[in-house]
Amino acid sequence: MHVIDLTPRGYCHGVLNALAIVKKVIKNESYPRPIYVLGQIVHNQKITEAFKAHGVISLDAPGKTRMEMLESVDSGTVIFTAHGISDQVIEKAKEKGLTYMNATCRDVYKVHKAVKDKLQEGYTVIYIGHRNHPEPEAILAIDPNIYFVEDEKDALMLPIELKDEKIFVTNQTTLSMYDIDSVLKILESKYPGYLFDNEICNATTVRQDAVIKQEKVDLMLVVGDQKSSNSNKLAFVGEKHQQIPSKLIGGVEDIDLSWLKGITSVSVTSGASTPTVVTNEVIEFLKQYNENDPTTWDHQSHLDILDIL
Ligand code: SF4
Repeated sequence: MHVIDLTPRGYCHGVLNALAIVKKVIKNESYPRPIYVLGQIVHNQKITEAFKAHGVISLDAPGKTRMEMLESVDSGTVIFTAHGISDQVIEKAKEKGLTYMNATCRDVYKVHKAVKDKLQEGYTVIYIGHRNHPEPEAILAIDPNIYFVEDEKDALMLPIELKDEKIFVTNQTTLSMYDIDSVLKILESKYPGYLFDNEICNATTVRQDAVIKQEKVDLMLVVGDQKSSNSNKLAFVGEKHQQIPSKLIGGVEDIDLSWLKGITSVSVTSGASTPTVVTNEVIEFLKQYNENDPTTWDHQSHLDILDIL
């Protein structure tokens, strides 16, 4: 099998920073125990499990807000995730007398600041993002009057009366321009002259660029978590815009051998929160895979959970 290892891939600076904060708290006994993470420190289940093995409790409750998750914490150290956190949750942690660490990525901070600045300047803010993702949750908590848009349908529903206001549009850091373009076209027709600040982060952009510029292959595998927005976008860009069949897998164990039948080339990339050891295991499996030799078909992961960190 011809395997193309797309670069760059793997951890971005925001993920590295978040992981370093959790490791620091684990190592340093002066941080009160238990150690909680409000959500998943980054969207990767293997990382969550690896930290769990070190005693870290990730309060990842689907459907619950960060504020609701915090209700169950009465002591110890609480770590806010790379996706950002609202001022209200930070205040609540202080009120509860908790020790807290904030692992918000600096690229996410930048969006918070841009939104706050523009609100102060009298703009009406429209924010493009994904529902039920913690990054928009923290942004929308800045002001109840921020308009949230996920897709064209939401954009069409925005009140036309806003056309008389100063409009500022920005977005979640891990989207793709393919998501945003169609929404922007609608906003342009409704609110000509709006101000747009593209906040797709550099890590997301360069990984998507590598997918766009790759040579034609029969299949692309994106190693990343189902919850990881930037990983999903890599598969989306490969599938919808490069017309390459693209699969998102958590690790080598998720490969369906039927995908490899009759193909000769596969590219591999990974999301910004995927451990490199997990991606390397996928690449090594594919390199030795031979459709006609069953001894090469074993695709169980042999990684120990502690190898992940
Ligand atoms: S993907 Fe971008 S915004 Fe998210 S943690 Fe990485 S650098 Fe920060």
